[in-house]
Amino acid sequence: MSSLPWSHPTPSAYAVRVPILDLLLPLLYPPRCAACARELRRPAGAALCRACVASLEPVGTGCSRCGDPGAPETCRRCATAPPPFRIARACFRYAEGGTAADLLRRWKYRGDHVVGSSLCSVFRTHRQRTVECYDVVVPVPLHASRLAERGFNQAALLARSACRDGERLIVNALRRARVAGSQTRLGRRARLDSVAEAFVPAAATGIRNCRVLLVDDVLTTGATVRACSSALLAAGALSVDVWTLARTPAPRPPSAAVPSAAPPRGST
Ligand SMILES: [Zn+2]
Ligand SMILES: [Zn+2]
Repeated sequence: MSSLPWSHPTPSAYAVRVPILDLLLPLLYPPRCAACARELRRPAGAALCRACVASLEPVGTGCSRCGDPGAPETCRRCATAPPPFRIARACFRYAEGGTAADLLRRWKYRGDHVVGSSLCSVFRTHRQRTVECYDVVVPVPLHASRLAERGFNQAALLARSACRDGERLIVNALRRARVAGSQTRLGRRARLDSVAEAFVPAAATGIRNCRVLLVDDVLTTGATVRACSSALLAAGALSVDVWTLARTPAPRPPSAAVPSAAPPRGST
């Protein structure tokens, strides 16, 4: 049976047509920035324009241990109750209403993986600027019910993007023992209570005597990464460093307010 010219094109026909479409579609429907909707002039696959990437506020200087932006060299909290992790660092600040908050909301709650892919790319770029190497990279886990609801763990995707050659990604090293509940309206003390003992190391984690990089999307009070770090150390990890995509400055009582740091220049 002879085929009509418009039906079931042969592979060779695709070979000609697809590159042409690849050239034409961006001209007809130019890709737009996921944050500001401006036309993108970046390589294919990027979701954010340069202006929006630049508007992600760097963390700047802060506590050398927990990375709290704007805090002294050793913040009051690290001085009085040192965290179980060695250091915590983040790529940029998180503030409600800011670009980072908007993008994370689109990724986590609307499943916008184009935005997620760009955020992973930003995370990978920041990681590549650092010299530290680890044996294993571990994401902060979601509870199974939340994972089923969302369909993905953003921390695991970030951890995968940050993993370097020679580092092992262990997605299931930790398990969230129970749903911690929405923490956004809780104070720091309540959050600490909320996540206490919420994380347990999985059996045979493979992290004994390993330097671990723990990855999460946002660090707020630090309660989650403290609890995860304690669980990893209890499972035999040699040390735990924390990297997050974004972080908020720790809440401070008015009397403990510190002057703003110099204009931030780096991610740490
Ligand atoms: Zn933009
Ligand atoms: Zn600190």
